[in-house]
Amino acid sequence: MYGPNDHGYIEAAIGPMYSGKSEELIRRLRRAKIAKQKVQVFKPAIDNRYSKVDVVSHNGDKIEGICISNSEEILELLEDDTEVVGIDEIQFLDRGIVHICRTLANRGLRVIVAGLDMDFRGEPFGPTPEILAISEFVDKLTAVCMVCGNPATRTQRLIDGKPARYDEPTILVGAKESYEARCRLHHEVKR
Ligand code: ADP
Repeated sequence: MYGPNDHGYIEAAIGPMYSGKSEELIRRLRRAKIAKQKVQVFKPAIDNRYSKVDVVSHNGDKIEGICISNSEEILELLEDDTEVVGIDEIQFLDRGIVHICRTLANRGLRVIVAGLDMDFRGEPFGPTPEILAISEFVDKLTAVCMVCGNPATRTQRLIDGKPARYDEPTILVGAKESYEARCRLHHEVKR
């Protein structure tokens, strides 16, 4: 991703689970580090998939991050010389993240966010849509549909191997559930 050198901006990598959002975030942050830019990475504490302090992709790639429990903590933990801020799993953050991203970009920082654009129902997820609206650059990534192999744009939630019901909570912590990437045709929600 190439952006302006002399002022701040927001770039977003969004899509369903397994679309390579974390991989893409890590790739961009690693390149910023190669360019000797000071980088800080944040992710909401709710995502304890693999590690409390690392941003980790499904293929095992990782970069060290800081867990936050709300968006305000980003401003509190931000160091004076930070030039690039990465935020993973933005869909789990409170609406305040929209203001934080805008504030950081207005201060001249490069802000790179990654997150789910839709929840398991196929509906816009948390603050992601608003962040997309104020981003300079957006990459909508696709995974591979586990049913047909076409590009997958949606995240299928399965409970005991069956499609989850529409009225189930958006975030299920600790439930016996699984997720897979699916295309529009094969994405199922029980009504
Ligand atoms: P995200 O952050 O979007 O959930 P990750 O960056 O963590 O995605 O993981 C992407 C990796 O997941 C791919 O490079 C691939 O190795 C693996 N993967 C597993 N299942 C799929 C799938 N259905 N489609 C694409 N990649 C998949």
